[in-house]
Amino acid sequence: MNIMYTSTRDKNKKVTASQAILQGLSDEGGLFIPETLPELTLDFKELATMTYQEVAYTILKEFLTDFSEEELRHCIYSAYDDKFATKKIAPLAKQGDRYFLELFHGQTLAFKDMALSILPYLLTTAAAKNQMDKEIVILTATSGDTGKAAMAGFADVPGTKIIVFYPKNGVSSFQEKQMLTQKGDNTYVVSIDGNFDDAQRTVKEMFNHLSLKNRLASQGMVFSSANSINVGRLVPQIVYYVYAYAQLVAAKEIAIGEEINFSVPTGNFGNILAAYYAKEIGVPISRLICASNKNNVLTDFFKKGFYDKNRPFFVTNSPSMDILISSNLERLVYYLTGDSSQDTVKLMTDLEEKGTYELSADMKQKLADFYSDYAEEEEVSAAIKQVYEASGYVIDPHTAVAVKAADTYHEATADTLKTVIVSTASPFKFPEAVVHAIAPDKLTNVEDDLVDNLAELAHSDIPEPVLDIRQAPVRHQTSIKTKEMQQTVENILNIR
Ligand SMILES: *Cc1c(COP(=O)(O)O)cnc(C)c1O
Repeated sequence: MNIMYTSTRDKNKKVTASQAILQGLSDEGGLFIPETLPELTLDFKELATMTYQEVAYTILKEFLTDFSEEELRHCIYSAYDDKFATKKIAPLAKQGDRYFLELFHGQTLAFKDMALSILPYLLTTAAAKNQMDKEIVILTATSGDTGKAAMAGFADVPGTKIIVFYPKNGVSSFQEKQMLTQKGDNTYVVSIDGNFDDAQRTVKEMFNHLSLKNRLASQGMVFSSANSINVGRLVPQIVYYVYAYAQLVAAKEIAIGEEINFSVPTGNFGNILAAYYAKEIGVPISRLICASNKNNVLTDFFKKGFYDKNRPFFVTNSPSMDILISSNLERLVYYLTGDSSQDTVKLMTDLEEKGTYELSADMKQKLADFYSDYAEEEEVSAAIKQVYEASGYVIDPHTAVAVKAADTYHEATADTLKTVIVSTASPFKFPEAVVHAIAPDKLTNVEDDLVDNLAELAHSDIPEPVLDIRQAPVRHQTSIKTKEMQQTVENILNIR
């Protein structure tokens, strides 16, 4: 079956998968979604014997139907190789009576690696397929995780350059060091004196700057985005939900067909949306637990059917989920409207103009696939501690948010199905919050010592990427004012 992609804001739009990946966002501002979902029979007896790469091929070929088998296998095997610390790529860990789907074994120790390690290959393959011979310039604004994971993915990928902007005072020292030591002759990192919103807004302005784009094109280049709304990030995330279920079957933890739940630490709604697609294509999933931190705009949305971003913004100990506008939610909203791009536009216009929108009674009914809850910072610490004391297993603050939400869910509903916690970051990425939770007497201001203490508490080795950073030389040191961003891009790219 050939799958075309349409836009949440214009149903008449029809592009191939490779075009959707190249374009990122549809021209009128909508998000690309598969026009129909692939009809496939998931044979979990067979899937349970497959490697991650084989499962990836089984799923990607159904969604990215204009890619050839050779192209897809090239993308998959280039992405999911020994850059990952484990052959399983996304192992499922049983700790005590809990299941954790570990998505943090890639180069930057967070789940962004799952999609951003394959996106560069999908993107360059898509360019070649569409006879687009221009060099692809990725512009990204980051609040920490995405920029590093995108650079790690695109570093030294032929035909690409990547420029990352981050707020000088808005990322953790570890995240900053991760970025400033990034290798690759095609990577550029620049800090600005503004905040993340300034960076994001100016990047968007450059994307829409006609004369800049023309000058870029005349020198054989084109802008593209590694943002989480790209179909090339969304589809690869479906894979690990299928793989997780297959792993549970392989380990005889569940019988084939037995329903399970997933609890997903959520920010931009990309990860959990992939879980929703997994359910739609036939993975036996009962509930999707949408776990938020103190920035609990989604918890309210799922409970009341009312989205309201007009609220204070909190900086928390799970910073990758500190977000008030979840862009991928637009895709779910489109499905809730019964595939109406007109109704979706109406709601998204409300969001832009008033910062709020309300679902109809009909749409609210359809939220039953989801359960939502959030965790305050103390609850995050308590969850890290509880898991550690129960099993000796150390989780990061984002994962802890999902643990708390899963526990609330089981208490509130008396549901006895098994729930898999989606584990989105290594605890070594957030050593301070983690040590604070499990052994506050082991806190120290010296980052390397803190990491050593954590390794001891966790009875585990320090992950390679953390050790690498201790030695790695700083390779980037450009600091500018926000208003110099465009000029900086022109200088880097040498465009006149
Ligand atoms: C990005 C991120 C999230 C949120 O994922 P979304 O797809 O944006 O919902 C959760 N945890 C970590 C560690 C992340 O980096």
